[in-house]
Amino acid sequence: MSGFEFVSRATEGRARTGKLTVNGREAETPLFMPVATKAGVKTLTSEDLRQIGVEALITNVYHLIMRPGIQIIEDAGGLHEFMNWDGIIFTDSGGFQMIRDGFKSSLDSEKVKFKSEIDGAVHELTPEKNIEIQEKMDTDVAMCLDHCPPYPAESEELKISLERTAHWAKRCREAGKVVFGISQGGTDPGSRKKSCRQIAEIGFEGNALGGLSIGEPKEDMYAMTSIGGEVFPEDKPRYFMGLGSPEDILEAIERGMDIFDSAYPTRNARHRSVFTNEGTIRIDKSAYKDDHTPLDPDCDCPTCDNYTRAYIRHLCKSNELAWMKLTSVHNLYFIIELMKKSREAIMDGEFKEFKDGFMQKYKR
Ligand SMILES: [Zn+2]
Repeated sequence: MSGFEFVSRATEGRARTGKLTVNGREAETPLFMPVATKAGVKTLTSEDLRQIGVEALITNVYHLIMRPGIQIIEDAGGLHEFMNWDGIIFTDSGGFQMIRDGFKSSLDSEKVKFKSEIDGAVHELTPEKNIEIQEKMDTDVAMCLDHCPPYPAESEELKISLERTAHWAKRCREAGKVVFGISQGGTDPGSRKKSCRQIAEIGFEGNALGGLSIGEPKEDMYAMTSIGGEVFPEDKPRYFMGLGSPEDILEAIERGMDIFDSAYPTRNARHRSVFTNEGTIRIDKSAYKDDHTPLDPDCDCPTCDNYTRAYIRHLCKSNELAWMKLTSVHNLYFIIELMKKSREAIMDGEFKEFKDGFMQKYKR
């Protein structure tokens, strides 16, 4: 099986639910993908991900080029084999990492050059080469190499980023099979709209919002999300890259987004912050010392089915590392369930009520 298909099953306003099929692998939308930057979701195995109900994940070629290197992944038979993961794999081009401060890199309109933090080797990537590597790794969906401006950005920086992103996007389209385009434009409505149009016109399998959720005010982020929902075509999936908090995801679904990824749920879990239907709790608080109830009484995840707040807090205080896995399983399951409930609500034409009800209870 090969090929790519996206079917929208029901809509409510801009919110919709549908199904994504790529290379015979399926996932329902709205879809949340955990981030496996270096081909692993921190503290979790591929079996854990399957048990939680994960259908797709995203990894990052920038990191994988440096370690373990393309050859080892190719020799393993590709990322699915290497990771023992038979669900959908998206690969990020690494544009964000290569271009943002803190990474030793240089670029012009033809290529990005970067130095490995691991062995100092210098890698040179053109947009074509980047897509070629993603496909060599046996990705299902390759993401375009884009140019993410800093936040906040000067208008000249935005202009260069837009031109480069559009130019590279055309070259990535030519080079790849199943490719998603990425729009930039910061939080400037005119630039964002222009970039979304430029990307949409190229004709990718899906279209993404990039360069958001990086410290801008929420209202600006939501306004940019609305632009994506309006400008990106209806017959293709819309992907908000790097969005992971429950409340932000619901806002983005309402504005027409279908796919999300973020390290937020698992990163929070490792920082002792646990999602519940009444907001996040800090599991190391003394209040939970003798609390023999699950992390979230409404949750059916493997952690909540078997362990209590008192026990997990105890592991945490005793530096018994299993607590990180227990909280990661729970937080990821919480987001995956939120997607499932959102899909059901959209099917029933009750997404607005569902979202309002969730937000009313949920305190950050
Ligand atoms: Zn749970």
